[in-house]
Amino acid sequence: MPALTDPIFAPVGIAHLTSDNVDLLRAAAAGRRRLRVTTAAQLNGNPHIGTVVTILTVFALARHAADRLDLPATVIFDALENAPAERVDRDGEIYTRTVGDLIESGHTSHAERFRGFEQVLTWASQAAGIRYEVRPYTVYQALCPVRECLHHIGARLEEFRPIVAPADGVVRIRPRCPQCRLMEKSASSLRISAGPGVVHLDSRCPDHGPYRASIPVDGSDGWYDANTPVRSIQKGYLLAYERDQYDACSVSVDGADWGGAWHAHVLAPALATLGIPVPDWPISVFTPLIVDRSGGKLSKTLYVRHGAYADLPDLFLDLNTLIRRHGTDILTTLWDEVCRWAAEPRRLHRHYSVDHLAEIIHSAQPARAARLRSA
Ligand SMILES: [Zn+2]
Repeated sequence: MPALTDPIFAPVGIAHLTSDNVDLLRAAAAGRRRLRVTTAAQLNGNPHIGTVVTILTVFALARHAADRLDLPATVIFDALENAPAERVDRDGEIYTRTVGDLIESGHTSHAERFRGFEQVLTWASQAAGIRYEVRPYTVYQALCPVRECLHHIGARLEEFRPIVAPADGVVRIRPRCPQCRLMEKSASSLRISAGPGVVHLDSRCPDHGPYRASIPVDGSDGWYDANTPVRSIQKGYLLAYERDQYDACSVSVDGADWGGAWHAHVLAPALATLGIPVPDWPISVFTPLIVDRSGGKLSKTLYVRHGAYADLPDLFLDLNTLIRRHGTDILTTLWDEVCRWAAEPRRLHRHYSVDHLAEIIHSAQPARAARLRSA
């Protein structure tokens, strides 16, 4: 029986078309001057091993593509501080405040929310020799192409409802109360309307009554929270725009849960509805999911809130524990692995179990110990 570190690779569709993952970028990169590789994460605390592996894979793919295509690469990390961080129940209606709101009000700190991500980004950037930029959500939501896309959606709500909200038709582009920052989660009082160069968002606060947030397309003012499908579509639109803005091949690298059904039912139909020519679509590359023993995506929320994975070592759920137990050498071990994923289609287009990662980490331990002794 083969060892876990020598997995069996079942042939999958896309791996038959490519001999190297960079084949998927080749046409979009032709004649371009650089690669812009974008990824994103919600700043909801200390990253777990799935997030760490995704970030490392993003940099490994950027390095590999830069070498093969002979183009400079930059990684853009969208740091989503609009993740919900506080839930408030008012007469059965749920309102939220975001991580960014709690940072501003001093209830949490940017360092506390970002430190773990920064550690992995800095490490991966050095390992790959690829620079990176962090783009907070506040900056992202105000970018002109992102606002332009918002306006298209706001002006054509009936076309976008079945794409972004197939269950209830509610397009969730939410404002927050200008006085207390409460945001209505259900968006049931929300009214969206598009005027010349502006999107109006009308809502109501349980404490301060009705209010209107006006979001100018030129990005000069305003803030709104776009929920996941809206944000995903805006990102596709932005990356298509950035091809010309930066003379770049725009690549979006995300976990495999953004491929498959999401790409087929949300992103692809939305880009087509927006009329973006196919050659301008950003290249989407999906990193392997790290799955639990039942084959589900490893989820910190499930672990923390619902006590799932009771038999899983806590080092898999928390970067600090991982590094405290194994030192930053653990990142080198994972890096060596993801560099193979970055190059070979059969290693990229699949999932890996936490047990497989455990095997890799443990099998690297003797070599690490020897290195430490000789240092
Ligand atoms: Zn209020």
